[in-house]
Amino acid sequence: MRATFDYDVLIAGAGPAGAHTALRLARAGWRVGLLDMRRFPRKKACGEFLSPACVPMLEDLGLLEGLLASGARRVSGMQLYAPRSCAHGHFVTIGPYRPGAHEGQHGFGLGIRREVLDEQAVRAAERQSGITCMLGWRVHYATQDESGRVSGLSVSNPDGKRLQLTARFVVAADGPRSRVAGSLAWTNKWRGQERFALIARFHGVESTTEAHVQVLDGGDYFAACPIDSGIFTANLVVDREALAGGNRSLDALFAERLDRAPALQAKLAYAELVEPISACGPLRTMTRRTSGPGVALVGDACGFVDPFTGEGMFFAMRGAQLLAEEVHAFLSGKRSERSALRRYEQARRREFGPRYGLAKLLQRGLRRRGVADRVVRTLGRWPRLCDLVLGLTGDYVPPSGLLSPLVWRSVLGTANRVPVHDAASDPGLVRY
Ligand SMILES: Cc1cc2nc3c(=O)[nH]c(=O)nc-3n(C[C@H](O)[C@H](O)[C@H](O)COP(=O)(O)OP(=O)(O)OC[C@H]3O[C@@H](n4cnc5c(N)ncnc54)[C@H](O)[C@@H]3O)c2cc1C
Repeated sequence: MRATFDYDVLIAGAGPAGAHTALRLARAGWRVGLLDMRRFPRKKACGEFLSPACVPMLEDLGLLEGLLASGARRVSGMQLYAPRSCAHGHFVTIGPYRPGAHEGQHGFGLGIRREVLDEQAVRAAERQSGITCMLGWRVHYATQDESGRVSGLSVSNPDGKRLQLTARFVVAADGPRSRVAGSLAWTNKWRGQERFALIARFHGVESTTEAHVQVLDGGDYFAACPIDSGIFTANLVVDREALAGGNRSLDALFAERLDRAPALQAKLAYAELVEPISACGPLRTMTRRTSGPGVALVGDACGFVDPFTGEGMFFAMRGAQLLAEEVHAFLSGKRSERSALRRYEQARRREFGPRYGLAKLLQRGLRRRGVADRVVRTLGRWPRLCDLVLGLTGDYVPPSGLLSPLVWRSVLGTANRVPVHDAASDPGLVRY
């Protein structure tokens, strides 16, 4: 006799990874239970920059229009700063690779508050037939049948009552400290340098369509982005030791690092904090596995890298797309679960492996004295090379694109050259 389940798919966590997986599976006809311990809108520590490759995925789910109507800012490029050098790049076509969404010559990423981004996805899930949203429900652990196969979740409802929900398949999208992964003993302790982020939001920054990254000597960095409602979000990422400096307040630490970032300091000269600076971390988490019988992880639940290249939401949304495709194939009997999960893992490795590698390499390199300046100075001399780096970190140029002659012809030739930002007319830009 076939067992009966409460849901076809039960998803822990309704951030971008969970909400996108739910929407995709419900649209394919499956009964989905989507749980989150928080109610929306909720805050989430983030640089709030969505890389250009996220834009078509938002459009595909019908979410883009609502975000733009809510004031999401189009981000056309980035200003990169090292202690003694700077470079500008744009999200433009590189050889055969186009940023997914275009406005005139430029592709764009988006800057939007997470309260807005995540709430709109959850509201879309609430409207979508086939999805039962359970907000304010806490997941405790994955339940397993006698064979060890994951068969559901142990949860508490908003009144604190413990319940067991069952499903043909469970998705863990419950973020970097995943309870589901923890309950399966899949989490690994990160033994490297622990990093923390300070998050600040400002009003009163001169309007810009460019994000701003500033690496400091020693590897601390600022990542800042214009977002909706005239807000400019600036994150500062530091080593744990920087936070351990006695009674030093977050404001003082932020101000001290800002003294070493003159271009950003100039931008923020007349700005006011919208809310107190907050801190989060440690940032790095790791898992040993990302799938097993009856369950798969997606988004930050799979492990979280330092947000230097601003790709976490791309990994969450693209991961949701890859996973939903395979879970659908398994549930509809097109593939065995084993083969579907193997394909999911392979696709993740193929698409994300080189990107994780690149992000880690940049992280490591930039901590070494002088390396950031050498890299940024070279990018400053070769704007098209800087565009290529933005294409890579903007997720629309795959790392394998570095082997393409078309890419290098586009970078080294002049035919495709775009007007480069005029540094002299930018009051926030300090020339070295
Ligand atoms: C400081 C910082 C800056 C960043 N900047 C950027 C950036 O600019 N661009 C970018 O693309 N990425 C950035 N990231 C990364 C990005 O925020 C994440 O990669 C992204 O949020 C991952 O989405 P997710 O859905 O996997 O997880 P989350 O967004 O964390 O969602 C997980 C959800 O699970 C829920 N949950 C957790 N535990 C439970 C439980 N036990 N029961 C029920 N629900 C639970 C949580 O409430 C949450 O809603 C940044 C991250 C940090 C920390």
